[in-house]
Amino acid sequence: MASAAPFDPAALRQDFPILQQSVNGAPLVYLDNAATTQKPEVVIQAIANYYRRDNANVHRGAHTLSDRATVAFEAARETVARFINSPRSNQVIWTRGATEAINLVAYSWGHTHLRAGDRILVSYLEHHSNIVPWQLAAAATGAEVVPIPITEAGDIDLQALTGLLDERVKLVAVNHVSNALGTINPVAEISRLAHAAGAKVLVDGAQAIAHMPVDVQSIGCDFYVFSGHKLFGPTGMGVLWGQEALLDTMPPFLGGGEMIETVSFSGSTWNALPFKFEAGTPNIAGAIGMAAAIDYLAGIDIAAAAAHECSLLQQSIDLAGDIDGLRRIGNPAQTVGIFSFVLEGVHPSDLGMLLDEQGIAVRTGHHCTQPLMAHYQVPGTVRASYSLYNTADDVERLFAGIHKAKRLFG
Ligand code: PMP
Repeated sequence: MASAAPFDPAALRQDFPILQQSVNGAPLVYLDNAATTQKPEVVIQAIANYYRRDNANVHRGAHTLSDRATVAFEAARETVARFINSPRSNQVIWTRGATEAINLVAYSWGHTHLRAGDRILVSYLEHHSNIVPWQLAAAATGAEVVPIPITEAGDIDLQALTGLLDERVKLVAVNHVSNALGTINPVAEISRLAHAAGAKVLVDGAQAIAHMPVDVQSIGCDFYVFSGHKLFGPTGMGVLWGQEALLDTMPPFLGGGEMIETVSFSGSTWNALPFKFEAGTPNIAGAIGMAAAIDYLAGIDIAAAAAHECSLLQQSIDLAGDIDGLRRIGNPAQTVGIFSFVLEGVHPSDLGMLLDEQGIAVRTGHHCTQPLMAHYQVPGTVRASYSLYNTADDVERLFAGIHKAKRLFG
């Protein structure tokens, strides 16, 4: 692995071709990183080179290109395993993203382990993709989805969680980082509490994976999921990590090629992990692209990047102090660089459009967290989510844009 160079966001910016453009007549300020991150040239090249030189189907072994594709695909799995400190690489299952990974667990584990009267605890901070699959599993099994309260600041209320943890609870599903507020949840502590009560734990790491080292062993969860596209990798590629003993007991999610050992009309048997959960031709280029993104990150001091992103959040909080009617939503104890706010008298989508006219990309709306928006009694927020390539200038541009909107709507 490359050793980390001194952290320099302006220099890193040069690695991302998409950032070198003007949008609506102004240099692009991309502040929608929680929705998806941009891709460095090395990731784009890795995908292009795979299609130029090595493209073939994997695990078929009949010819040289197939061997090359298989080697690269399985090396990518090893790269992910090392990245999250998985004991073995067969615990890394490729999915289309965090959403599919959660659905895989909800169907495969949920349908076989949940019974009427069981409870699944999910927090108010969850993305719809960590709520709806559990509602579907609950509807199919008679189990119940119960929300874990949060504090006004937007932290999981650990006391309330402890109070909810009784023998009915079979699973606790929480995100590592909230996409709407930026809250960093104490997932190791939550895993410990849940396990003490006999429940399994799924951690949705979609928003954590690009902002902090993730060590699935020290977290101690049963399942950890994330998407490659929030990690400077391609869309359509994600990971389900699970405890091996648990994955071994779970039935397949999807049936088809790859996932079988034998097939006959009297019955079929399943392949070993991880292939049991990987039916059909996988997203080979996606795996290679994700590994290239992880290799790229290995050259960056992630702690310094996270500190930089938090400094952009602090700059935002300071600049917001000058704007009447601007209200930050949430104020979590531990947070990544996400600034979510409402501006009195201006609908979030109108503000988003006005910022876009100035080349500034933010996300507006409910951020796929409608229960959280209901909790704060707002229809939605404007969200600036910072990444390692954002600069203090980007934040200045955002706030100049907000001032302009205020003048127009004021
Ligand atoms: N969980 C969280 C916290 C997210 O932010 C997202 C994406 N916004 C998801 C899950 C779903 O990720 P994907 O759409 O890549 O499956």
